[in-house]
Amino acid sequence: MASSSTAPTTVAPTAAGPSLAPLHRDPDSLQVLVNKHRPVPAGWTAPDLVSAGVVGNRQGMLLRKPAAQALQGMVAAARADGIELILVSAHRTHDYQAGLYSNSIQRNGQAHADRYSARPGHSEHHTGLAADLAAADGTCTLQGCFADTPEGAWIAQHAVEHGFVVRYPQGSEPITGYGAEPWHLRFLGVDEARRVMEAGGIVETAWGAGPAPTYLP
Ligand SMILES: [Zn+2]
Repeated sequence: MASSSTAPTTVAPTAAGPSLAPLHRDPDSLQVLVNKHRPVPAGWTAPDLVSAGVVGNRQGMLLRKPAAQALQGMVAAARADGIELILVSAHRTHDYQAGLYSNSIQRNGQAHADRYSARPGHSEHHTGLAADLAAADGTCTLQGCFADTPEGAWIAQHAVEHGFVVRYPQGSEPITGYGAEPWHLRFLGVDEARRVMEAGGIVETAWGAGPAPTYLP
């Protein structure tokens, strides 16, 4: 991508990256980096969690307030375009993620679990700034083919206008450590989401964090 010419030529294998700014290290920041190298701190809880305020496949889903407000605006904008989106996952606690991860290992094995699920502490859903969306009709929910639905295509085009980026885009796995998830959005705020997209669409690269393809030993 265009930004590769300015990327650091060496990446320390155990470091977050030489130029990761303090706001990307602060778990309370809207621009915190969470990935396979950077868990949220043990015992930390996301501040200002509120009801997501959009239609979901279950009750009680929470997001941080700025993300919830932006998501409400995005879902309304989609509806105005004839696209019905529903929320299928938002904030997750450490215990909830532990259950998901362990279920994923039991179903599909460790390698698959580490490609599509996060170890507890490492899920971006802990931040309250990540939302998994689906088509209201259920087509391709949490599957790669969601990218080819009208709902997935709408998200790919318009999420940035509402301050979200598709966090694990196609082809980003060597950097993000996750297979493509066209349904998983990360709230950054409109200005930062635009900056990340202009830098190629991968948060780690845009923030100078270096790749985090696997968990550290
Ligand atoms: Zn997700």
